[in-house]
Amino acid sequence: MDSKWNHFYKKPFQKRLDLIAEEAGLTPDQLDLIKQQFSQPSGQVIENYVTDFGLPQGVAVGVVVNGHSHLVPMVTEEPSVIAAASNGSRLLAAGGGIQAEVASQLTGGQIIIKNGAFSQLRAFVADHQAEMIEIANDSHPSILSYGGGAKRLSVRQLDSTFTSIDLMVDTGEAMGANMINTMLEALSNWLRNQMNAEITMAILTNYADEAVVHVSGKVPLAQLATQSMSGQVVGRRIVDASQVAQLDFRRAATHNKGIMNGVDAATIAFGNDWRAVESAVHSYAARTGAYKGLSTWQMSDKDLIGQMDLPVPIGFVGGANKVLPLVAINKQIAAIHNTQEEMALIAAVGLAQNLAALKALVTEGIQKGHMNLQLKSLALSNGAQDFELPQVINQLRQLKNPDSRAVKQILKTIRR
Ligand code: NDP
Repeated sequence: MDSKWNHFYKKPFQKRLDLIAEEAGLTPDQLDLIKQQFSQPSGQVIENYVTDFGLPQGVAVGVVVNGHSHLVPMVTEEPSVIAAASNGSRLLAAGGGIQAEVASQLTGGQIIIKNGAFSQLRAFVADHQAEMIEIANDSHPSILSYGGGAKRLSVRQLDSTFTSIDLMVDTGEAMGANMINTMLEALSNWLRNQMNAEITMAILTNYADEAVVHVSGKVPLAQLATQSMSGQVVGRRIVDASQVAQLDFRRAATHNKGIMNGVDAATIAFGNDWRAVESAVHSYAARTGAYKGLSTWQMSDKDLIGQMDLPVPIGFVGGANKVLPLVAINKQIAAIHNTQEEMALIAAVGLAQNLAALKALVTEGIQKGHMNLQLKSLALSNGAQDFELPQVINQLRQLKNPDSRAVKQILKTIRR
């Protein structure tokens, strides 16, 4: 590496930018754009900060959860996601809205031990449970004042070499990654003096089966009818689609991606770590050893009924919550006041998103419903101005293969 990059992290903003501009051959206009998006004068949120990368934010409307109608801020670059979330929510609202229940809200961590005898370790942890919980809490005492704290320890044999000591913690209103890591390191230091085994690592787990939201909702079948299909048929086809996501991992991956379209967009808008949520969700989807669809849909005489258990390991405080100014505004828009309400709303958007995607998929197909939005996105990304959109989209719709070249040709013609 060229020595000019040495201590890049220590260089002032302008110097960093000069180096990048020189290396990448950035034009003055490109540099201006980077500077316009700059928002962190102290530059302390991330390392080597140069600018903010803006993503579009919209708001899904009418997301009824536990009897309250919410607006949900959603950050996404994908057209049709927010329309689908609103559409799915509207259908579920017709059946009384989504019911959401947070069964528990514990975060876990693990200490991996190498070459410790499993049965001895298990007996040791059972004997020292109370002492170990005290050591964990003493390393982060403020959590007790927030009403949380370390709750329990257990021991799992991973194979003949490795054992995991699992710690579960009530992290209060925080997601808790940092506080759990602090607790685990304190416990590791103590354990090192207690036993003759190697500690390989001590770290939070993103597997979050004790931070699960149960969401359910129903849609009167009549609401599902399309011009060419009765509500009964659409409902039956959604049930079939749901079953396929239980049978086939290829379909399950896409079924769950549709759910995450909503979950990620809301998680980002609320300033949370969406990689942690993604990781929790997909590992949970594979918890039986086979990767499966997270939601399931069934039919009664009158309704389509959906339900889903979704891990949503997030926090109402900590992380980027205070750092990004839009987060507080987004929580106000969503009318949520604590972690459990936030978890419930995120999971509810996931269920609504899933319903809208399945309905489109088993009726007109995904592309038709998305077409207008996709064409709009295609036109905008190829330079169309707002006032030109209706004409461009109209002409693109007549084409068999609308693409960038076609947009440019249409723009040339109409601008002439
Ligand atoms: P923080 O350490 O930023 O925030 C937690 C702190 O918030 C607490 O320690 C406490 O500090 C304060 N706090 C204020 N009110 C409350 C309350 N009611 N309940 C609980 N705490 C409160 O974040 P987290 O520990 O939540 O960790 C989340 C961050 O960690 C995210 O940014 C995530 O990206 C990152 N991370 C994620 C990892 C992963 O997912 N694998 C690994 C490592 C980091 P005080 O005692 O000072 O009041």
